[in-house]
Amino acid sequence: MFKKAISFIHRPPGANNGEMDEDPGIPRVYSEPYFYGRITRQEAEDILTVNGKQDGLYLLRESITPLGNFSLSMAFQGNIVHYSIEKKIDGQYTIADDMAFTDPVALIHHYQSGHCGFVTVPRFPCSRSADQEAVAFRGLSYNDLHSLMKEKARSMNASLSRALGTMRESLLILVLRNMHERMPWYHGEITREECIRRLEESGHEDGKFIIRKRADNQTFALTMSCDGQMRHYFILVNDGETYSIENGQRFKALIILVDHYHNKRDGLPCKLTTPCPAPNIRHQVFEINLLLKNPVCEFSSGTPPRPKPPSSLPDIAKPIPPRLPPIPSSGRTPDRPPPPVPAPNGAPGVDIPPREKRIPFMEKSTSEETTDDEDTVKTCLPDSPMTHEDAEKLESVYIDIREDVMSNDLQPEQVILEGKLGSGQFGEVKKGVCHLVNKTVPVAVKTLKNNDPAGEKEILREATLMKRLDHQHIVRMIGVCKGESLMLVMELAELGPLKKYLEKHLEMKVWHQVEMMLQICDGMQYLESRDVVHRDLATRNVLLVTEHFAKISDFGMSRMVDSNSEYYHAHGPGRWPLMWYAPECLYYHKFDSKSDVWSFGVTLWEIMSFGARPYDRKRPQEILNFIESGNRLRKPKNCDDRLYNIMLSCWALEKGKRPTFREMKPTLDHLYKEFKITNM
Ligand code: AMP
Repeated sequence: MFKKAISFIHRPPGANNGEMDEDPGIPRVYSEPYFYGRITRQEAEDILTVNGKQDGLYLLRESITPLGNFSLSMAFQGNIVHYSIEKKIDGQYTIADDMAFTDPVALIHHYQSGHCGFVTVPRFPCSRSADQEAVAFRGLSYNDLHSLMKEKARSMNASLSRALGTMRESLLILVLRNMHERMPWYHGEITREECIRRLEESGHEDGKFIIRKRADNQTFALTMSCDGQMRHYFILVNDGETYSIENGQRFKALIILVDHYHNKRDGLPCKLTTPCPAPNIRHQVFEINLLLKNPVCEFSSGTPPRPKPPSSLPDIAKPIPPRLPPIPSSGRTPDRPPPPVPAPNGAPGVDIPPREKRIPFMEKSTSEETTDDEDTVKTCLPDSPMTHEDAEKLESVYIDIREDVMSNDLQPEQVILEGKLGSGQFGEVKKGVCHLVNKTVPVAVKTLKNNDPAGEKEILREATLMKRLDHQHIVRMIGVCKGESLMLVMELAELGPLKKYLEKHLEMKVWHQVEMMLQICDGMQYLESRDVVHRDLATRNVLLVTEHFAKISDFGMSRMVDSNSEYYHAHGPGRWPLMWYAPECLYYHKFDSKSDVWSFGVTLWEIMSFGARPYDRKRPQEILNFIESGNRLRKPKNCDDRLYNIMLSCWALEKGKRPTFREMKPTLDHLYKEFKITNM
């Protein structure tokens, strides 16, 4: 895998040597004094709080996951709000699909100059003190990282400008992959007994941990202390590519995994806090100068940096009265200011509509910010119908290509289109093949008709979101190709939509139907864990790779959700699939994974009804009245009561009463096994 990534940037020895030494330098965002690196939302809040929390005081941080995104944290009326700055597929940065900029610095400058879609203008940079460095990863500064990346690019005889520019993310992963060997928490190959001895010797402390290589030389183990006890977890290396604690999220490097569990408990008994240092680590670390001079956030910290008066505005950002546009009912008009009213202190102020209505940008955040009360690590589906091995066998054709192409556009000559598979909102979906470095894979290609700019924006948005997803029951994106028209290249799910399959296979056994439900539930649980709401879950958008392998598709309406605001607030009803929508979506335009749960209930109903149309021919208002009066879709013919009860639970009016996907999975798994044994 990584050999192939290297081939992307490899150049023949001696080729264009002038270019080889062009160091584009560390991206300017990393040197900005208000940039703190990959710190958590909580840490950002602590820093702004300790610095006075005055309106417009802001800092910038890099998202923990996905790599490459940023968040702007800003104080307003005693609270801290967070905006996710997304890196689009074309390398530009944007907030909520507004204007795009070459880097987050340009973006902030733009919004400082009065084009404000925020709760207030990002007016006062909350700067680090001179002796504080931004943290790239725990124990690694951006400067060190840049030096290591440069060293790596040179060792590969790669063009520095390319390796550190467009290929930056691939190079970063290459460098991070072995970085654990230089981290204090990595103890190399020691026995479990020795690991316990070292942890005990250094004293129990919640979250203190060691990672060691296991004797099989292929896997790793995490040992951590919590509540005075030792806990041990396997760390699997999946296909030599990604690292995961059993059934947990996969990461491309151990150092990223550690960062994740430092920020989020995510199934562990507590977060990872303090590394139990390996005896030889001082030597290793100092050798490559990796220790931060004065890290902003050490592992065990939580202590914010000392207060520092906000620095004055850069020239470009002269203080101006904040301009807050009202939330548009359809489409956004971010530049239109509301009428000013005197602020309490007599300064020019603004008429601020109620909180929910005054924020034109969704305050978004990334998956680092989800609640940490989940327990994804230790739950698993024993004997689940589609085993990991089965899925990986089927998917092997796509394995080890994503990394190469995802950060790059595909060239038009790489994508050969064949017949039509279906039609989407902005054009056709065609079957085809995609020629990659050393293999050719079958693909489905979403094409844009008439080069419609609105369609292009939508497809790029869909691509940006899909790029973040990597799960066996979700259609993966392979790349984007800008030929005569824009193309979104995806994994091919040869058998097409589940809805059509159901309509044609009335003989389908219940266990087979439940198998589909279980796989969809698995994919949806993953989306939930990635803070993504699908917003269009229905059997028409579940595609079949084989009769027993389903994948969720069509992310055209999907959005990232801010765990801070808990739901995605849509600007206005569009072409919405009303029959699949929960009442709060229709009334308040609020979407979260619990509204996806409602749609999942309708999808289960469709599966048990062999693709029938829900609510017959009722009109939208009639459906709402029907639901509000306590009615629900009728139990499909021959449907087991327990399955119908799951559907009913998904349709609880109060979303808090609906189950989560992870709660439904064991029940579905149990039913699957029961029906399978009796061949129902
Ligand atoms: P969409 O625009 O995503 O709703 O796709 C429209 C239609 O194209 C779907 O209903 C499928 O029939 C087909 N299609 C989309 N994506 C794929 C895929 N990855 N594999 C196979 N068929 C697909």
